[in-house]
Amino acid sequence: MVDRINRLLIANRGEIAVRIIKTCRKLGIEAIAVYTNVDSDAMHVKLADEAYSLGSDPYGYLDIDKIVSVAKKANADAVHPGYGFLSENARFAKAVEDSGMIWIGPKWSVIELLESKSMVRSIAHSIGVPIVPGSLGPVTLEEARKIAEEIGFPVLIKADRGGGGRGIRVANSLDELERLFPIALKEVETSFKGSKLYIEKFLPKVRHIEIQILADAHGNVVALGERECSIQRRYQKVIEEAPSPIITDDDRRKLYEYAIKFMKHVKYVNAGTIEFIRDEKGNFYLIEVNKRIQVEHPVTEAITGIDIVEQQIKIAEGRELEIKDSIYKFNGHAIEARVYAEDPDRMLPSPGKIMWVRFPNTKNVRIDHALAPGVDIPPFYDPMIAKVIAWGSTREEARQNLVNALSNFEISGIKTSIPLLIEILSTKEFIDGDYDTLFLGRYLEQRRSKGVSAK
Ligand code: ADP
Ligand code: ADP
Ligand code: MG
Repeated sequence: MVDRINRLLIANRGEIAVRIIKTCRKLGIEAIAVYTNVDSDAMHVKLADEAYSLGSDPYGYLDIDKIVSVAKKANADAVHPGYGFLSENARFAKAVEDSGMIWIGPKWSVIELLESKSMVRSIAHSIGVPIVPGSLGPVTLEEARKIAEEIGFPVLIKADRGGGGRGIRVANSLDELERLFPIALKEVETSFKGSKLYIEKFLPKVRHIEIQILADAHGNVVALGERECSIQRRYQKVIEEAPSPIITDDDRRKLYEYAIKFMKHVKYVNAGTIEFIRDEKGNFYLIEVNKRIQVEHPVTEAITGIDIVEQQIKIAEGRELEIKDSIYKFNGHAIEARVYAEDPDRMLPSPGKIMWVRFPNTKNVRIDHALAPGVDIPPFYDPMIAKVIAWGSTREEARQNLVNALSNFEISGIKTSIPLLIEILSTKEFIDGDYDTLFLGRYLEQRRSKGVSAK
């Protein structure tokens, strides 16, 4: 049964809200924005067909009851959660469905099943998808100690319901585990309500490779290629690209098999991403499943020509996927750089008012943003303010296009990470595609000790 969506409420802000509005336009869907008082002049509010206030609390984007009641009042027939905020909140997904609206994402019960990252590990393990050695559920310190002694140090302490790299800690010894575990627990209990901890063996020199999946309600599941996301700082992605410079067709076949097997097993419907790490020997291990659109989805769009948000909407309408097979042939190469409102030297957030902005007029570049002169970057939200995505027929061409675009992207009024991004893209390691997930951390450390500052 196809349920046409006519009025879509976007429960998010910033660049992703603007991104979703664009696809609404294309599909002839009315886009409804929500905003908190600090965002009343924001771009997503201006660009939407209608906008509703969530009130004075800057964290209104997390208020399930409020958003659902606004959506009903606005006569929305569907809700898109974007990423972050309530996008992976099963209670929100259920509340949307219970109110008779369509949720653009996997079924709430599937979100609930996959909410615990250690449960995801246990499901993967039970169906023969490799995972990093570690716990198969949340653990107490007592249990963590036992498992760590079995698998050997170093181990990673992770938030069971974490995300964005927050709460991850390395323990190199039993002493460190005992010292860090209670600190980590306290931290995750507050930042990820009710979260527990789990542990995993810390693997040296890994690459982060993830597979983009689309799954419809008719049992079809396809993979749209991988994304390489190993340029990270504090376990968080900074530069992503597709395809990965190191993945072979054989690797891809294997990763697709793991990813599709997992998604079919949990009866996943909508867009989703399976994250893997690859060790030095070329073995892959599943680390988590992201049950939403991802920040870095544009690089996949750039090399496949598929609008992933459009697919999400069509899947939610109950349509069958028109893409019948997983994709192995890509058109060129794409690289994305995340631009942060921050001081690139001190790496501290730099909120404030945008005085003016000049977008690059260079070729094969897409910029996802919500910027305009006079727009405020409030301190309450994620400091990522734009994504610059460059395409090229080869990786090197894409890289040069990205450097060019970033060099011609000027934002004044706040500090941004643009100079640092150009620097990273110009390192030998990046040019050669020869780096692991800790490369950027080491690079920044060296840079700091030399007292270098971004131009
Ligand atoms: P992960 O590394 O877990 O896959 P991603 O890097 O793909 O996560 O992005 C999700 C993160 O984006 C969230 O954890 C959050 O910190 C951040 N985020 C959430 N909402 C927004 C927003 N509207 N604008 C910018 N960043 C956001
Ligand atoms: P989050 O939910 O915060 O995104 P992930 O489990 O996806 O957390 O891990 C974030 C990053 O931490 C990965 O992309 C990778 O760089 C690093 N990482 C995760 N697990 C391991 C591991 N077992 N060994 C080494 N690095 C890891
Ligand atoms: Mg992750």
